[in-house]
Amino acid sequence: MGDLRLDEALDQQTSLSELQEFCQKCNRCGLRQGACNVVFGEGNPRAKLVFVGEGPGAEEDRIGRPFVGAAGKLLDRIFAAGGWTRDEIYIANVVKCRPPGNRPPRRTEIESCLPLLQKQIELIAPRVIVAMGASAAKTLLNDPSLSITKERGRWHKVGRCMLMPTFHPAALLRDPRKKKPVWKDIQQVMAFYEGLQAAEGERQP
Ligand code: SF4
Repeated sequence: MGDLRLDEALDQQTSLSELQEFCQKCNRCGLRQGACNVVFGEGNPRAKLVFVGEGPGAEEDRIGRPFVGAAGKLLDRIFAAGGWTRDEIYIANVVKCRPPGNRPPRRTEIESCLPLLQKQIELIAPRVIVAMGASAAKTLLNDPSLSITKERGRWHKVGRCMLMPTFHPAALLRDPRKKKPVWKDIQQVMAFYEGLQAAEGERQP
């Protein structure tokens, strides 16, 4: 059953900055108690391409920005290879507060935070989402039994978006053999995104 009061409160957030302020006050799950910051996300509020990870790590929690630690540096290299800058795209996470010891977020925590992410995505209105890692892919595809190893590299339609699951950058740090499949997935995203840009360019007067 949905949370009527939360739904009503979220309906009143009509811009990303309003939603960010709303999220800063959130204590819907226990993760807030151990976290220094609510890491809302950042980037172009009208991005057509959104990357969604699992949750903030220690460095992200300390600074209050997503993907600024070692995995973030690798993600920046992926962006550079794709020809994207952080100003052009948007980066968010499934949970906005750091799970202690960098453990994966629990299902109840993800469920608590999901309406905030859904509202964030609704306000940005992207056309492409890259779900990085099992938590993001399972959550955004609403499939708790999803295997990221099997599902990565396959497009899914979610609402008006196309969603590409791939490995999380932290997984690439642990296992460099995952770099090649991620690069394949990113190449698919690049091709789709370039097609979108070209179609939008054609629609301009
Ligand atoms: S993780 Fe999400 S739901 Fe939990 S307290 Fe932080 S912002 Fe709220």
